[in-house]
Amino acid sequence: MTAPAPVSAPSDRPAGTTPATAPPADGAPGGGDDLPVPVSAPMRHAKVRAFTEHTTVGQVRTTADGDVTIACACGMTLTNGPGWSLDEHIRLHRAEARFLALAAVAPAGIPRLVDWPLPAGGASGPGPGAGSTDGPGTR
Ligand SMILES: [Zn+2]
Repeated sequence: MTAPAPVSAPSDRPAGTTPATAPPADGAPGGGDDLPVPVSAPMRHAKVRAFTEHTTVGQVRTTADGDVTIACACGMTLTNGPGWSLDEHIRLHRAEARFLALAAVAPAGIPRLVDWPLPAGGASGPGPGAGSTDGPGTR
């Protein structure tokens, strides 16, 4: 007794399929050229730029105190701390860099979670608010 031959042979292409090397036919419906771009080129470039400008460089070093640090391509030293790990600092640093890069090139008028541009000196010191004079008189 002999086993039955397999039904599908590799060389037997089903009717209607075209080889992958065939160029698209002229006037084919559903051409992809007019599809909207989900993310604009400036935002994509900003994301790539943030990624490359904030790549960790060198190796993880352990200080005499037992802290672990690694340098970032931007010049900042990333380190662990009393309540966070080196990995957490790296993740936050990259996320901040991505946010700053994207927020700077985002389309005008786009609804934002964070006010933009950031208030002056937003990276250090308390923001405006406590002694603000922008409210109506309360007397
Ligand atoms: Zn960096």
